[in-house]
Amino acid sequence: MYDLVVVGAGPYGLSVASHAAAAGLNLRLLGRPMASWRDHMPRGMFLKSEPDASALSDPSGAHTLAGYCAQRGIEVAHGSPLPLDTFTEYGTWFGRNAAPPADEQTVTRVSPCVEGFVLETAQGERLTARAVVLAVGVLPFAQRPPALGGLPTELVTHSTHHRELSRFAGKDVTVVGAGQAALETSALLAEEGARVRVVARAPRIDWNAPPQPLARGRLTALRDPHSALGTGWPSWVWSRLPSAVRRLPASTRLHIARNALGPAGAWWLRERFETAVPTLLGHTITAADRTAPGVRRVGGVLGERVRLWLAAADGTASTLETDHVVAATGFTPDLSRLGMLDSSLREGLRRVGTGDAPWLDARFQSSCPGLFFAGLLTAPSFGPAMRFVHGASFTAPRLLEGVLQHRAQTATAVTGVPASPGARETERQVARGPLGGQRHTRPAAEAPSASGDGTGRLPAPVSGSKDAPEAVDARKGGSRAE
Ligand SMILES: Cc1cc2nc3c(=O)[nH]c(=O)nc-3n(C[C@H](O)[C@H](O)[C@H](O)COP(=O)(O)OP(=O)(O)OC[C@H]3O[C@@H](n4cnc5c(N)ncnc54)[C@H](O)[C@@H]3O)c2cc1C
Repeated sequence: MYDLVVVGAGPYGLSVASHAAAAGLNLRLLGRPMASWRDHMPRGMFLKSEPDASALSDPSGAHTLAGYCAQRGIEVAHGSPLPLDTFTEYGTWFGRNAAPPADEQTVTRVSPCVEGFVLETAQGERLTARAVVLAVGVLPFAQRPPALGGLPTELVTHSTHHRELSRFAGKDVTVVGAGQAALETSALLAEEGARVRVVARAPRIDWNAPPQPLARGRLTALRDPHSALGTGWPSWVWSRLPSAVRRLPASTRLHIARNALGPAGAWWLRERFETAVPTLLGHTITAADRTAPGVRRVGGVLGERVRLWLAAADGTASTLETDHVVAATGFTPDLSRLGMLDSSLREGLRRVGTGDAPWLDARFQSSCPGLFFAGLLTAPSFGPAMRFVHGASFTAPRLLEGVLQHRAQTATAVTGVPASPGARETERQVARGPLGGQRHTRPAAEAPSASGDGTGRLPAPVSGSKDAPEAVDARKGGSRAE
């Protein structure tokens, strides 16, 4: 039995695994490192976040993006967009040097068992763990307009389906959305030789301003502070105070999660986009169907196309025919999309207010003791920082505290004796770490392993934290909303 299994090896999973290994936990990390970035983002993309907001988190603080780039003579600077491949390689290097080795397996099922959880993988492995972190990222939550629902992937895809856009050269492509993914995907499509347009409900496209210089007058800095999520006080609060966000009423947090840092294009993309991509703004797709196969004007190729039925803001209806639709319409954090999670466990989880994301305590633990979440699904609890790589630095050390608390409590509950003195010392050190400034330097590879107790009893509900009274054991049919 493992102390911890981390599902997903993106920036959040790698960061959590790095902290957990350094604390001596017996853990497994399952997933292909940086798979979303490697396989599901278009070649030629740049990060929208600034380089200094794009580092993963290890307890020593030694594996930063800046350090990685400096070692290799790669220039990174504030205000200079970071290429996708540089970031992907950095994450892969982080995984090799600061985290335990990842098993490239896909978890297909997580179910409760007496001692914690059973995980099954598509590759046929079955393992048990006292605690599980679901750091599955954005892909399970890809959102498509309902009107596009019935069409096959030859005609309609989500933006995350594409690494190579060159296959659309010479084709007519309609990109839906007005955020960075829509704008950058369409600019890249145009540069690959596609005839592309953007259709969006939004009446206009918003563009971020270029970042202000890091050194500014004190008054300007006070009026408009820098933060990892951009300049201005709201961004400062989202990036610096996720714990305070979590204390806001659930309805306020849901509103923030839906509306803060809304769709906008990066300043460096604007010229490339505006000179190459026509737009049809203020239009909603009300329906879509296939046109009959026939001879197309360009290239004389036989094939189906998509017909989109559009409604303008004033109610005017129109139609549009295109070879392919790319829905760059974002992600919705919704637990019901996590098919791998045993349905009784999933259904019993308490939610944030009336939303679809899991309620979490201050250490990222759900209402099911031992089940932790990281990344997008935690944004309705901790705010918009959790939608970005930056949030991993807040998440990893705190989540580890939760895992260690859970381990100590289950060990005590099962055996009647607390965890070993060595483990207790690690727990004390980690507890001092993120909140008290203590840092570990032990590399992941040297971490000793601690095994489970194997006595076969249910983990105790969380106690000893101020969140404890609210926590509900989902396996005992707890309430679903806060
Ligand atoms: C086009 C695009 C551009 C973006 N640009 C930025 C940016 O510039 N800056 C920024 O901060 N954020 C950006 N983001 C958001 C970005 O996705 C997140 O910040 C970041 O990836 C979150 O890390 P994560 O570990 O939660 O998720 P991911 O990076 O998605 O990693 C999750 C991992 O879990 C794996 N996984 C999922 N299910 C399973 C399973 N069942 N078994 C095993 N493994 C599984 C996935 O394969 C994936 O590798 C962008 C997102 C998109 C889509």
